[in-house]
Amino acid sequence: SSYHQVLEENRFLYNQVQDLKGAIRVYCRVRPFLPGQPNGQSTVDYIGENGNIMIMNPLKQGKDARRVFSFNKVFATSATQEQIYADTQPLVRSALDGYNVCIFAYGQTGSGKTYTMSGPDLMTEETWGVNYRALRDLFHISKERADAIKYEVGVQMIEIYNEQVRDLLVSDGSNRRLDIRNNSQLNGLNVPDASLVPVNCTQDVLDLMKVGQRNRAVGATALNERSSRSHSVLTVHVRGRDLESNSILKGCLHLVDLAGSERVDKSEAVGERLKEAQHINKSLSALGDVIAALAQKSQHIPYRNSKLTQVLQDSLGGHAKTLMFVHINPELNALGETISTLKFAERVATIELGAAQSNK
Ligand code: ADP
Repeated sequence: SSYHQVLEENRFLYNQVQDLKGAIRVYCRVRPFLPGQPNGQSTVDYIGENGNIMIMNPLKQGKDARRVFSFNKVFATSATQEQIYADTQPLVRSALDGYNVCIFAYGQTGSGKTYTMSGPDLMTEETWGVNYRALRDLFHISKERADAIKYEVGVQMIEIYNEQVRDLLVSDGSNRRLDIRNNSQLNGLNVPDASLVPVNCTQDVLDLMKVGQRNRAVGATALNERSSRSHSVLTVHVRGRDLESNSILKGCLHLVDLAGSERVDKSEAVGERLKEAQHINKSLSALGDVIAALAQKSQHIPYRNSKLTQVLQDSLGGHAKTLMFVHINPELNALGETISTLKFAERVATIELGAAQSNK
C-alpha cells in the first residue's frame, strides 16, 4: 500500500489534524495543591466544559472579584498525564505526515510545566509526560505503517539561556555555543550543529533525556534554578520514504519547556539575575508577538526578535501546528502570576480561536 492509502485508512485522524492547521490551540492546566502543603483556598472558582475557567480573588468583593478566561480546553487538577496526552496526540501524529509541530509549556516556575512535558522526578508508567508519550507513539505508528513508509527518527535537544543556544546532547559535556541558521530548506533543522541523534526505540529516548538533563546542570548552582531560567527544546525530526514512489516527506516536532514566566521584582533583581530576567522577558514576549502576529495574519512576523522564535521559525505559522499548554498554580500567593499567565495565553489564542471566544 502507498502512503496515500495509509492516509486514507487514517482519514478520521487526518481530518482532525487538518482542522488544526495554522490555528493555535491553547490548553490550560491547573496544578493540584501539593502533598505536604497547606490546602489553602484555590483561586480557581470554576472550570466549564467549554474551555472556560473562572479565577477568583477572595480578597475582593463584587464583580471585580471574578474573571473568566476562555481557551480550547481547560484541564482540572484531576486530569491525568494520559488524558493530557490524549488531546495532544493528533498533533504529534501529524509530524509523521510531514507537518512541523510546536508544543509549548508556559507558566510561572512551579506551575507544572516540566511535569506536563517530562513528568515528575520519580516516574511511573502513569506519570510519563508528553515527551516520552509522543516518541512512544511515533515509534508505534511508524511500525504500523512499515509496509508503506520507511521512517527515520532523529532527536536534537538544545537549551536557550541568556539568548545563547547550547547543545544538550553533547556527550563530552563541552556545552559549546551554537549558531542558528535559518534556511527554508532546513525544515526545522535551524541549529544544524547541534547533535542529531538517531533513535529507534523508547529506551534510546530515555537514555538521551538523561544526557540532556545532565548537561542542563552544567554551570548551574542548582539544577532547578538554571532550568527554570532557560528554555529547553527537544526536537524530533522525522523523515519518511514512501516505499512505492520513493518520495520523501519530512516533518518535525518541537517539544518546548519554556523558562518560568514570572516577573521579577525590579528592586530585588541585580547582576546575573536581572540579566536572566530581561532575557526571559524578551524571549517570552517575542514568542507572544510572533504567535499574535500569525493569528492576525500580519504581513510582518517578528521572528528575529529572539533566539527562541528564530529556532522555531519554520515551525510556527504557515502550515505548522502549534499547541500551548498554559499552567497555573492555584495558590492564593500565585494569583498575580496566574492572571498575567492567563492574559498572555488569551492574547496568543485570539482571532483564530473564534469558537472558544464565543463561548464566553
Ligand atoms: P515548573 O516546571 O513549572 O517549574 P514543575 O513541573 O517542576 O513546575 O512542578 C512543580 C512541582 O509540582 C513538582 O514537584 C511537580 O512534581 C508537582 N506537580 C506539577 N504538576 C503536577 C500535577 N499535575 N500533579 C501532581 N504534581 C504536580
